[in-house]
Amino acid sequence: MKEVFTGSFTQQEPIPEEGIAAAVKAMRHGRLHRYNLVEGEVGEVAELEQEFAAFTGAKYCLAVASGGYALGCAMRAVGVAPGDKVLTNAFTLAPVPGAIVGLGAVPVFVEVTQDLTIDLDDLERQIAATGARTLLLSHMRGHICDMDRLMVLCDRAGVTVIEDCAHTMGAAWNGVPSGRHGRVGCYSTQTYKHMNSGEGGLLISDDPEVMARAIFLSGSYMLYDRHRAAPPAEVFERVKFDTPNISGRMDNLRAAILRPQLRALRGQCEKWNRLYRAVEAGLENTPGLTLFRRPAAERFVGSSFQFLLKGWVTAKLQEVLRRCAARGVELKWFGAQEPVAFTSRYDHWRYAATPALPQTDAVLAGLIDMRLPLTFSTADCELIARIIRAEVSALWQAEEGSGAATG
Ligand SMILES: *Cc1c(COP(=O)(O)O)cnc(C)c1O
Repeated sequence: MKEVFTGSFTQQEPIPEEGIAAAVKAMRHGRLHRYNLVEGEVGEVAELEQEFAAFTGAKYCLAVASGGYALGCAMRAVGVAPGDKVLTNAFTLAPVPGAIVGLGAVPVFVEVTQDLTIDLDDLERQIAATGARTLLLSHMRGHICDMDRLMVLCDRAGVTVIEDCAHTMGAAWNGVPSGRHGRVGCYSTQTYKHMNSGEGGLLISDDPEVMARAIFLSGSYMLYDRHRAAPPAEVFERVKFDTPNISGRMDNLRAAILRPQLRALRGQCEKWNRLYRAVEAGLENTPGLTLFRRPAAERFVGSSFQFLLKGWVTAKLQEVLRRCAARGVELKWFGAQEPVAFTSRYDHWRYAATPALPQTDAVLAGLIDMRLPLTFSTADCELIARIIRAEVSALWQAEEGSGAATG
């Protein structure tokens, strides 16, 4: 009898009881709009902003309607204008080029390395070739590049860095929290990320003017004095006539749900890493399968797992996916011709014309990805690894036997 996994790759944990109680309380008093406060009340959103600023060590924080909104808001706040070129990694999720195009700006994709991070040599070439002055850096699937080298390179070239930390909330590079290297760090609290409010986003910065603009942009009207993790009033005075209101606020209900999750986040990240290490241990030395080695400077959050099937012919690789799926293991593949569900690739985004990126193509052709929700146990992860290992090994031997393997 072949083992089968019966868990769900899309089932998150329930909202903590404390969050449910806080949400019910907000619904009972009915003041869901963040600026709808009674005398002496700070409000759940402003409290969340203070707590998230403290969590990351940032001076300022703004909560917004989604991660994608945070990206657009950050780019506007640093001054990206229609027609401007914005650099980003070719390996990312569709909301990233979407946010760039949403501003009327033009995405410039940078190659990705064998480690799934932005290729810093190609970044340097593209900065020189395009004259782009903004980098929207996506820490896609939680893989963090050498941030020290990246910041030296970008500072030298006068490139403003905005970090997309949708997969690195709680992560760090060389002890510096992810989102604290660039001018702005953006996070998502959408259901599949590290905190779950259904939809939601956060952005952090130490730059007072950037944050004052972001707050106006998010739809603060002239109520910015109701923010806590915000710059002083005179900074708002400087930008208030030049900053449009592009509503994308967070509400008290979502913030109420998020605050207890933030208190638990450290422990959650540790749980994710135990699951990640269980899958990794189970897949060590699987013939035909290459694991990603995580750099010592990277404190990652293993909320998803990636591996490479390098040199496989497409039909065999697809057979691995089919057989794993038949045994309950849902794998996603970044090499598919067509975009599927959440998974798409830079050359599927035809609104952003891009020359071929051969290095990225070679990596994505064999890139397999899966979610590790916290409803999984380590035993679940061991079982998942056994299933993948068995199917990959069986087909790799067949592959070698047929003489079709190339690497
Ligand atoms: C989810 C995600 C976003 C966008 O977040 P939403 O809250 O869904 O808008 C941006 N970048 C990456 C890499 C993501 O995974």
